[in-house]
Amino acid sequence: MTNFTVTFWGVRGSRPTPVFSHFRYGGNTACIEINAAGHTLILDAGSGIAELSHALIQRARLDNAPVQATILFSHLHHDHTEGLPFFFPAFNPRNRINLYGPDLTGDGFPHDISTIMAPPHFPLELKNLHGITGVQDFLPGHTLLLGGGLPAPLLRPAAAPSIPRQEDMLAVSALRSREHPNDILYYRIAYRGRSLVYASDREPDPLRGADEFARFARQTDLLIHDAQYTEAHYFGLQPDTPATKGWGHSYTKLACKAALAAEARQLILTHYDPLYDDATVDEIGRRAQNWFGNTVLAYEGLRVELMPQPAPPREKPAAHPADVETNPDWLFLEPETKPSHPPTE
Ligand SMILES: [Zn+2]
Repeated sequence: MTNFTVTFWGVRGSRPTPVFSHFRYGGNTACIEINAAGHTLILDAGSGIAELSHALIQRARLDNAPVQATILFSHLHHDHTEGLPFFFPAFNPRNRINLYGPDLTGDGFPHDISTIMAPPHFPLELKNLHGITGVQDFLPGHTLLLGGGLPAPLLRPAAAPSIPRQEDMLAVSALRSREHPNDILYYRIAYRGRSLVYASDREPDPLRGADEFARFARQTDLLIHDAQYTEAHYFGLQPDTPATKGWGHSYTKLACKAALAAEARQLILTHYDPLYDDATVDEIGRRAQNWFGNTVLAYEGLRVELMPQPAPPREKPAAHPADVETNPDWLFLEPETKPSHPPTE
């Protein structure tokens, strides 16, 4: 059976929030797992990736196979990288983990990501993690092919001719944007005619590429979009909190407008502000329904299947005990002859 499954492991923006009032949606920062084409693709390595790492190790043990996964980084702010030092499959030389991300400094993604895992910030360096078999820039204008029998990820120009069995592989493209401080990559991931777009941290600006984003996300099956703030918070109308306009994030209506402009089929909101308890996130969901009806609020553990699945076989309903004891012939007796009790044999 063909699957294209999306699982949320971290939905919080900015910093982890391990507090009871945030428990229902979850307190881990950005991390999403995608399974398709026999491959595990991970979007961002916020604190949620630490929980995912345990799940991957367990699955590999059951399959008696190494962990094969690719991690795509949207950008390098802490809430998207802080879980990487605790991604334990990277410590095992048997595994094959590849990292891709944007070159945000001119020094290259391999250099930039290595700076978050080096003394004195962490006792080990990235080069000491022998389960990591590749670290590369994700070059916009390129397509990353994954799974489908490929021995390793393959990054190639988007205009390059197709390779054999490419339809069996995950195909990832990226859009570089200035809609978040220090720049960011948005990813579009396609598999067998279905797609999702990941825009975790985004403050749309009509003067700086909203149309470009709509084209990039056009008619995607699933848009995963930043919804960090309420409108009141964004514009500074909330007591005791500063306005957040210009901080690089969306409020609910902006996320819904992005979904409408792109003609997305479904919208999942994520990257909630750490100040927001479950009731506040509930309210974000209610408001979103006013602007884009097919909106879902992300929570830790949410799983979405993008590939149509065959309907489960219809089971014959179990007979009620009273039916089993009833003599069918009795049902057709004339009313005047019908006994007051069903026959007992
Ligand atoms: Zn973020």
